[in-house]
Amino acid sequence: MPELPEVETVRTGLASSWIGKRIDGVELKRDGLRFPFPKGLEKRISGRVIRNVRRRAKYLLIDLDNSDILLSHLGMSGKWTLDATESDGKHDHVVIYLDDGTMSVYNDPRRFGVLDIFNGDSHKLLDHLGPEPLGNWTHEDLFSKLRNRKSPIKICLLDQKVVVGVGNIYACEALYRSKISPKRKACTIKKKECKKLVDEIKNILAEAIRVGGSSLRDFAGADGALGYFIHQFKVYDKEGNECECGGTIERLVQSNRSTFWCKSCQK
Ligand SMILES: [Zn+2]
Repeated sequence: MPELPEVETVRTGLASSWIGKRIDGVELKRDGLRFPFPKGLEKRISGRVIRNVRRRAKYLLIDLDNSDILLSHLGMSGKWTLDATESDGKHDHVVIYLDDGTMSVYNDPRRFGVLDIFNGDSHKLLDHLGPEPLGNWTHEDLFSKLRNRKSPIKICLLDQKVVVGVGNIYACEALYRSKISPKRKACTIKKKECKKLVDEIKNILAEAIRVGGSSLRDFAGADGALGYFIHQFKVYDKEGNECECGGTIERLVQSNRSTFWCKSCQK
């Protein structure tokens, strides 16, 4: 599943290709993805110029010149291919024709993605989201959100009201780097530990975005596909490996998701 760094990398790619271009036409090859496509979508965006491509959590927000906002979420397996010359794949669901003669194709085998359009500041998928980890998010904010929570810290980090877009992989890695056990009750995490955790979450996401950026350059030459990239992780999917402390990386299941951690150095 694309996580925040991958979505940010996709945003950068879309922004560099799309901003300033006019949408000449749209072809919807089915009725919808996770939700039905909004009625009249083709007519509403045809002829519009793309002004900006932003990101909120894992949602891509494409600003059009009439202040409408196109919302795209990649779900589990979504991918935008830029400068496509053909679209015949059975998982190609949306084709956008741009005024430079290129096509951008949205492909999504599992169809958990979302494509919607709205106007104004409010959208039901965005309204309840917590702070952006790479914005002005602080350890005081995290500390106040955890103070009354009895669930394990790992579960709280995946709660989009606590912080958006950290995701399973980066939650495991950030807890490991912070030496905090994923099983600790959130309300027992001290302010100093919140500081470390917030710093490590920001670091790891920024590092992953840098990796994504360099992969993107290699990638764009091939077929223009923007997907997500495999990073090097210390604990994620490393069950049985030796930790740098001499302990062993273990796997446990929390709320049906795998957590990887080292009980020797995470307390
Ligand atoms: Zn260890």
